[in-house]
Amino acid sequence: MPNTNRPYVLIAGAGIGGLAAAASLLARGIDCDVYEQAAELKEVGAGLWLSINGARVMFGLGLEPQVRAATLEAEERAVRLWDTGQKWTLYKRGSSPRAHAPLVMLRAQLHAILIDEVNRLKPGVIRLNKRCTGFAQEGEKVRLDFADGTTATGDVMIGADGLHSKVREKAFGETPGRFTNALAWRGLVPMERLGGHHRTAATATTWVGPTAHVTVYPARWQTTDLMTFSGQVERSDWRLESWSEKGSVAECVNDFKGWHPDVVEIIENTESLHKWGLFVRDPLPRWSVGRVSLLGDACHSMVPYLGQGVNMAIEDACVIARCLEKYNDPAEALLKYQDARLDRTTRIAAGSADMQRTFHHPALGDPKTAAGYAESQWNPGKARARYDWIYDYDATQVPV
Ligand SMILES: Cc1cc2nc3c(=O)[nH]c(=O)nc-3n(C[C@H](O)[C@H](O)[C@H](O)COP(=O)(O)OP(=O)(O)OC[C@H]3O[C@@H](n4cnc5c(N)ncnc54)[C@H](O)[C@@H]3O)c2cc1C
Repeated sequence: MPNTNRPYVLIAGAGIGGLAAAASLLARGIDCDVYEQAAELKEVGAGLWLSINGARVMFGLGLEPQVRAATLEAEERAVRLWDTGQKWTLYKRGSSPRAHAPLVMLRAQLHAILIDEVNRLKPGVIRLNKRCTGFAQEGEKVRLDFADGTTATGDVMIGADGLHSKVREKAFGETPGRFTNALAWRGLVPMERLGGHHRTAATATTWVGPTAHVTVYPARWQTTDLMTFSGQVERSDWRLESWSEKGSVAECVNDFKGWHPDVVEIIENTESLHKWGLFVRDPLPRWSVGRVSLLGDACHSMVPYLGQGVNMAIEDACVIARCLEKYNDPAEALLKYQDARLDRTTRIAAGSADMQRTFHHPALGDPKTAAGYAESQWNPGKARARYDWIYDYDATQVPV
C-alpha cells in the first residue's frame, strides 16, 4: 500500500547527498527543507566521477539532459605505469559496455544541477547559515537545533552533514577515523596550458606507482576545457581530514618526484591545489534511530579509491526517499532504508580501503615486476570483477 500519510522531512546538509535526497523526496511529493551551515553554496574546484550506478538515480529524477550536458563521457579508460608510462586500456568507447564509461565532471557542476532542481521543485528549499548543533525526538516529531538559537520541527530528520556529522555524533557518539598514512591532492588545470598530446582523446588515466597513484581526466566548465588531477600519496605528516586545505605546487611536485614527465607537467600547471588526509572508520552497525537517520559520508565515509563516495550518497538519497514513500511509519521506513543500504556501503567502503594496497604496490617499483603486476591487476577480467557488481546496482529498483 502506498504511503498516503506523507511525512515532512528535515535534512541537515546541502552537499550532494542532502540535495539528492531533497530532489528525490520532492519528486515523490514528500515535503522537505534543507538546512546548510555555509553562508553560500559553493564547491571546491575538483573533479568527480559519476559512475552509472549514481547516474541512474540522476537520470531517474529526469536530470539526464543536465548531467549529459555537464559531463564528458571518456573515450578511453587507461592504467599507466608511474615512471615509463606503459599503458593498458580498460575501456574503449564503442568496443566496451557503456555501463563502464566514466561520466566525468566537476563537483560544482553536479552540485549546481541539484541546487537548480530542488529550487525548481520547491523554491527557497535550502536554508543557509543554519549550522545544526543537535536534535531531539519528542513524540512523533523531531526538533533540529541550530547554532543561531533557532529550531525547526518535522516528522523525520536526515543527517546529510558529511564526514564530521553532528547528527551522527548526537545519535551514536564519537566515531574516530584511523589515518591511512596517505593524503589526497586535488586540482584543476586549464587544458590550454598542457602539451597537445594531453588533448588528443578524452582519456581517464590512472597512473600507478609503488607508494602513490594519480588519476587524471578531462572536464569542461562552460567553454573552458580542464584537466582534473587527483593524486594519492603515502605520507604520514599530514593528518587533517578536510579538503578545504590548500597546498603548494612545489610540495605536490615533491610528492611525485621521479614520475613520468606527463604527470609532472600536469601538477606544475595545476591551479589551487587542495590536500586532504585520508581516514577510514569502522562501519556503523546502524544508521537509524527512531525518526532520524543518516546518509552519505555521515554514515559511511570512504577513501576515494573506487570513486564511489558521491555515488553512494546519491544511491542512499534515492533509497531513503523510496522507503519514506512506501511505508506509513517513518521509523519503519528508516529501518528498511538502513537494511537496504548498510551491507552494500560497508562492502564498498572496505573495498575502497583495500585498493590502497592494489594501487600502491612494491612490485611497481621494480622494472622487472612492474608490467607483470599491472597486467595481473588491470586485465579485463579483474577489472570487471572489481567494478561490475558496483555498477550493476540500481537504487531506483532494488527491493525496499
Ligand atoms: C579527495 C576526495 C576525492 C573524492 N572523489 C570522489 C569521486 O571522484 N567520486 C565520488 O563518487 N566520490 C568522491 N569523493 C567522495 C565524495 O566527495 C563524498 O563521499 C561526498 O561528497 C559525500 O556527500 P555528502 O553529501 O554525504 O557530504 P558532503 O559533500 O561533505 O556534504 C555535507 C554538507 O553538510 C554541510 N554540513 C556539515 N556540517 C553541518 C552542520 N552541522 N549543519 C548543517 N550543515 C552541515 C556541509 O557544509 C556540506 O554542505 C571524494 C572524496 C575525497 C575526500
